[in-house]
Amino acid sequence: MRRSFSEEMACCRCCPRECGVNRLRGETGFCRTGSGIPVAHIGLHFGEEPPISGSRGSGTIFFAGCNLRCVFCQNHQISQEFQRGSVRTLSPRELADEMQRLEKAGAHNINLVSPSHLIFHLADAISIARNRGLTLPIVYNSNGYDSVAALREIRGLIDIFLPDLKYLDEDAARGLSAAGDYARIVPGVLGEMFAQVGPLVLDEAGSARRGLLVRHLVLPGHLENSRSCLRFLAGFSRDLPVSIMSQYSPQFRAGDYPRINRTLSEEEYESIIDCALELGLENAFVQECGSQQEYLPDFSRTDPFQA
Ligand code: SF4
Repeated sequence: MRRSFSEEMACCRCCPRECGVNRLRGETGFCRTGSGIPVAHIGLHFGEEPPISGSRGSGTIFFAGCNLRCVFCQNHQISQEFQRGSVRTLSPRELADEMQRLEKAGAHNINLVSPSHLIFHLADAISIARNRGLTLPIVYNSNGYDSVAALREIRGLIDIFLPDLKYLDEDAARGLSAAGDYARIVPGVLGEMFAQVGPLVLDEAGSARRGLLVRHLVLPGHLENSRSCLRFLAGFSRDLPVSIMSQYSPQFRAGDYPRINRTLSEEEYESIIDCALELGLENAFVQECGSQQEYLPDFSRTDPFQA
C-alpha cells in the first residue's frame, strides 16, 4: 500500500539521493525543495517532439529545483537559482486547478517538467485532477535520475514517460551532474517506466497517448558516452522511440569546463545519428544542428520561450 504524503515527506527518499530529511519541518536536501510545489512556468509549449507538442501544444508545467546539478543546465535559472525565475509555491489542489486550465486551453497532455523531487506531490495533484474529470495523458518529463521504488508507488498515474538517458559514463555523470551513480541507477529506471507503460502509442492524429520515449542530449567531446547510451537503448528495444538532441549550448557554469564549452559540431552530431542507424534505432527524432537558440528558455520573461 502507498505510504501517505506526510510519511514520504517526513523522511525524504523521493529520489536516489535518499537524503532522509524532514521536508514537512522545513528541512531541505540536495534538491533544496521543501513541502510545497515550486512552479516556475505553466503554458502551452510547442518545442517538444511532435507526438508530445502536437498541433495545439503540450501543457507544460515547469518545476523549480532539481535533484541533479548539471553544470550546463539550460534551465539553471529555475533548477538551481530559484530567485531568478518567478517561482510560486502551489499545493496539490492548486496544481490540479492548473492542470484543468491547461486541458480547457486545448493542451494535448499535461507535461510535468523536472518532476523527480516532487513525485509524491504530483501524485496527489494528478489524483485530485483525475477525480475532477481530467482526461489528458500525463507526461513525466524527467532527467532519468528517479527512484524506482517511488515510481512503483505511483504506478498507474503516469501515461507517458519522457526520461533523459544522459550518461552511461560514471565520470561524466559525477563531474558534470554531481551524480556518480547515475549510470548505475538509470537502466532500472527505464526498465520500470517501460514495464508500466510499454511502447509509445499514438492516436490517429499522431499525438502520444501512452508509452515510453527516451531523450539523449549529445554533449560535445563526449561521443563515446552517446554511443554507449545508444547501444544500451538498442539492446533495450530497437523499436523504442529515441529523441537524439543536438541543442546543447554552453550555459550556466559550462565555461569552467573546457571540453563542453562550445556547441556540438555538425560532424559530431551526424556521427551519432549514423551510430543510431547502424544499431537499428530507426524510430528516432532528430534536431537541426545550429538550432540551439530556438530551445533556450529565459525564465525571467513572462513567456520563457518567446524572444
Ligand atoms: S527529493 Fe530532494 S530531499 Fe528528497 S531524496 Fe531527492 S534530493 Fe533529497
